[in-house]
Amino acid sequence: MHSCLQRKWRKAIDIIKEIPKITFYRGRVGLYAILKALGVGEGDEVATQAFTCLAVPEGIMATGAKPLFIDTEEGGVNMCPLDLESKLTDKVKAVVVQHTFGIPAQIAPIRSVTDPRGIPMVEDCCHTFASTYVNQVVGIFGVGAFYSFEWGKPIVAGIGGCAVINDPDLRRKVLDIADSMVSPSWKRVIKIQLQYWAYERLYKPSNYWKVRSAFQKLARSGAAEGNYNPTEGIADDFTFNMAKPLRDRLVEKLKSASEIVERAKRIAEKYDQGVVNKEMVRPTVPDGAIPVYARYPLLYEDKARLLARAEESNIEIADWYRTPIHPLGEENWRTVGLEKGSCPRAEQLSKRIISLPINQKVKQEDIDRTLGLLNE
Ligand SMILES: *Cc1c(COP(=O)(O)O)cnc(C)c1O
Repeated sequence: MHSCLQRKWRKAIDIIKEIPKITFYRGRVGLYAILKALGVGEGDEVATQAFTCLAVPEGIMATGAKPLFIDTEEGGVNMCPLDLESKLTDKVKAVVVQHTFGIPAQIAPIRSVTDPRGIPMVEDCCHTFASTYVNQVVGIFGVGAFYSFEWGKPIVAGIGGCAVINDPDLRRKVLDIADSMVSPSWKRVIKIQLQYWAYERLYKPSNYWKVRSAFQKLARSGAAEGNYNPTEGIADDFTFNMAKPLRDRLVEKLKSASEIVERAKRIAEKYDQGVVNKEMVRPTVPDGAIPVYARYPLLYEDKARLLARAEESNIEIADWYRTPIHPLGEENWRTVGLEKGSCPRAEQLSKRIISLPINQKVKQEDIDRTLGLLNE
């Protein structure tokens, strides 16, 4: 047990050391760079799960490839290995495996599909840098992994992302791509810095709904950097690296990575023990996995009513992913190549999913108020 824990911890530290080495403007740019380095382009497909955010198909489509959407697992929030097997075609050149909310995907069953076919697996670690699967930290199972450091991720640096690459040849190629990228304009960097400043000062769970609505308004008007780009054309995001002041903040924050993990575990334990309402269902966690959550997910039938109550009482409960490709409404699924009905579990899941905050600003009082509402 002891040596096992030590090995796990050493691996987690390895990942933390790698994180600031290959950085990008955003997480999706890291995904794009990994796919480009794998030779993915026009005419290819990249398998990825439905029940994700638009950033992932954006990263895939920026290479010229098309996303192939795989349904979620029964009772869980991650990719279904069986649906992956049944949907794979010769055009699929890579599989993106997402550890949603920090719950590790079923890595072994997925690899038993991809490995014999020689299809590289890329891990989407945007929700966690510390969850483990059979005693090893996520991010080391695929050819490479990508991370994000925007609002709502375990480490917030403003806007930013990185790639951690396990294959040495691939690493050189990804580094070359990263080197060819340029810093975003100072205007953009200042905008992001102002947003970070506002986030630091204004956000706390009891202000969630107000901050969220202000951010959405500012992003729509262009005054703030929003989360998503239009699906037609390729955004200039894919030409940028992470600007120095943002990267410096990331390096600084990584120094308290272990405190971030410890805190996330403590808060999750309180939700584990405190949510006793039987109508709140926990998504399944695969055998051998220990999640370190970005947010604490629950499934609930009357999601709309609960969210309305939460907003009224200034309690933070998030609604994502609201659709299988958040935030795309059904009329726009076609723009990323999702056929209605092709991922029925993901469609149902987005109607039931809610999530509770796990971050540095969550206080005992917030937890108590949240539990009060959920257990009513
Ligand atoms: C945030 C996120 C991304 C993209 O990150 P950006 O930095 O916004 O590009 C990708 N995948 C998942 C699961 C995410 O949560």
